[in-house]
Amino acid sequence: MSSLDYPWGVPENTSARLLEGTAVARTLRERLRAQAQEVSRLGAPPFLRVILVGEDPASIAYVSSKSRAAEEAGCLAETVRLPGMTAPERLLKEVERANRDDAVDGILVQLPLPPGHDARRVFDAIDPVKDVDGLNPENVGRLIQGRPRFVPCTAAGILALLDAYEIPIEGANAVVLGRSDIVGKPVAALLTSRNATVTVCHSKTKTLSALCRRADILVVAIGKPGFVTRDFVREGAVVVDVGINRLETIEQVPEHLKQSPRLRDAIARRGRALVGDVDFDGVCRVASWITPVPGGVGPLTIAMLLQNTVDAARRRREGRALKS
Ligand code: NAP
Repeated sequence: MSSLDYPWGVPENTSARLLEGTAVARTLRERLRAQAQEVSRLGAPPFLRVILVGEDPASIAYVSSKSRAAEEAGCLAETVRLPGMTAPERLLKEVERANRDDAVDGILVQLPLPPGHDARRVFDAIDPVKDVDGLNPENVGRLIQGRPRFVPCTAAGILALLDAYEIPIEGANAVVLGRSDIVGKPVAALLTSRNATVTVCHSKTKTLSALCRRADILVVAIGKPGFVTRDFVREGAVVVDVGINRLETIEQVPEHLKQSPRLRDAIARRGRALVGDVDFDGVCRVASWITPVPGGVGPLTIAMLLQNTVDAARRRREGRALKS
């Protein structure tokens, strides 16, 4: 197992190898830079507008890394910041303004939204041809029917990561833990379209660990730090940990992870630790492949956002050229 991009280091005597999202995303971003240049020659560089409501520090950090990555890939990125008290109607007006702005190719409304907003109303409002997060019902419907336009970025990133390591998907038993609109449902749809046999589990699922143990590929997206322990994982399974949980005090650390010297050290020295939904130290002793957190799925999510933005821009430029 390599420790590249896994800042905590990796336990000894593990069977698993790392699915290194940072390295895969770097390669994808180089390819994207060339694609963004081609699109620029058709008119202007691809233009992403991000709408951020509120002051959540994690969201601010995600938005700034998306903008930075967009600019590095040769796209233009602009963030519209709205205060936390913004009324839902005001947010919808901002989305409408971006829909009408001919310079804007891709629109992303950063999630989660503050309480009082209905994310699905926002998904409905985004022009489907600028919906680079793939959450408008038209794009979701296209995905389910196997004729995708924009695929939600994290789900697309998970498949890109599995493909980069040539993990066999066809015929695999895949278990997806979590059924959110942004991760669980689209990743289940993509795995189904690639001929995996997919089981979707959620908070009402019975015999959860037994179902997970049937998985050749286990995708975990529930937002519960270290929830999936080695008892959930069949020997040799591929484990994709989507969770990103910020822990700032040792009290927030779940009991079974409290003895982890790396976690304690991260909190003591940096005042926080990022952990996935999988108990990495335990699970990497049985899995064949596993994603680290950070450095696993997260970088692919950003790369897929840029891919969708470049694709949106190309379609819009080519469509315009055909009309003129
Ligand atoms: P979400 O909308 O909160 O959905 C959580 C899902 O997990 C729900 O379907 C819920 O079931 C299920 N769940 C919760 N507790 C459970 C339990 N004890 N047993 C079984 N199922 C349970 O979450 P999300 O937006 O998909 O995000 C999940 C995690 O991924 C979060 O940590 C988030 O930060 C992270 N994330 C990472 C990226 C990335 O780029 N790496 C992108 C997006 C999200 P019900 O449906 O029954 O409520």
